[in-house]
Amino acid sequence: MASDKGPSAGDATLRRRIEPWEFEGFFDPRELRRETCLLYEIQWGTSHKTWRNSGKNTTNHVEINFIEKFTAERQYCPSIRCSITWFLSWSPCWECSNAIRGFLSQHPSVTLVIYVARLFWHTDPQNRQGLRDLINSGVTIQIMTVPEYDHCWRNFVNYPPGKEDHWPRYPVLWMKLYALELHCIILNLPPCLKISRRNQNQLTLFRLTLQDCHYQTIPPPILLDMGLIQPLVTWR
Ligand SMILES: [Zn+2]
Repeated sequence: MASDKGPSAGDATLRRRIEPWEFEGFFDPRELRRETCLLYEIQWGTSHKTWRNSGKNTTNHVEINFIEKFTAERQYCPSIRCSITWFLSWSPCWECSNAIRGFLSQHPSVTLVIYVARLFWHTDPQNRQGLRDLINSGVTIQIMTVPEYDHCWRNFVNYPPGKEDHWPRYPVLWMKLYALELHCIILNLPPCLKISRRNQNQLTLFRLTLQDCHYQTIPPPILLDMGLIQPLVTWR
């Protein structure tokens, strides 16, 4: 049941929460805004306590800021496992992907899971390779879906009283479009999602163009889920 209050005033994370309008703007998968927002969770060892905070781009990309802050603030103890989860409005660019791999190689007891709302310049071959390299080095990368949006709203947003359940209901279709494209990146296929901006009326066009290699390589359940192939049903 939704409480009639916002996040508790005694909640230590309150001052680190972002405002609802910030979350709505940053994480809408249909929008192509310039800045990146990072919401992150850190857990140490077997502790159930989760440390949460957020960050945005400065002169550096937000991923670099995180690495610098983490490295500067934490007395790193290699024997204690550390689980980090990122919720990023844009996926890392290739330079950040390289920096993340460098960070992880220096901190072998750190595991990193990255959820992204959108794929950053995803047709750029270097960015695609950067994501594959991250995955190959053990990082989990997934597109944010309904449970992640809901989780972020509850845990990172200073939502209005009684609005605990009211994360912005972004259309699931956009999450599926990006998930399909992420599959293409992982499988080293050409891009199938084309995004273009029509400047005169500010419309953003999302278009799927599948080639034979997509149909042959992407697992059929994913194509079926997107309505890109017809179910084959037999009955005797
Ligand atoms: Zn970057």
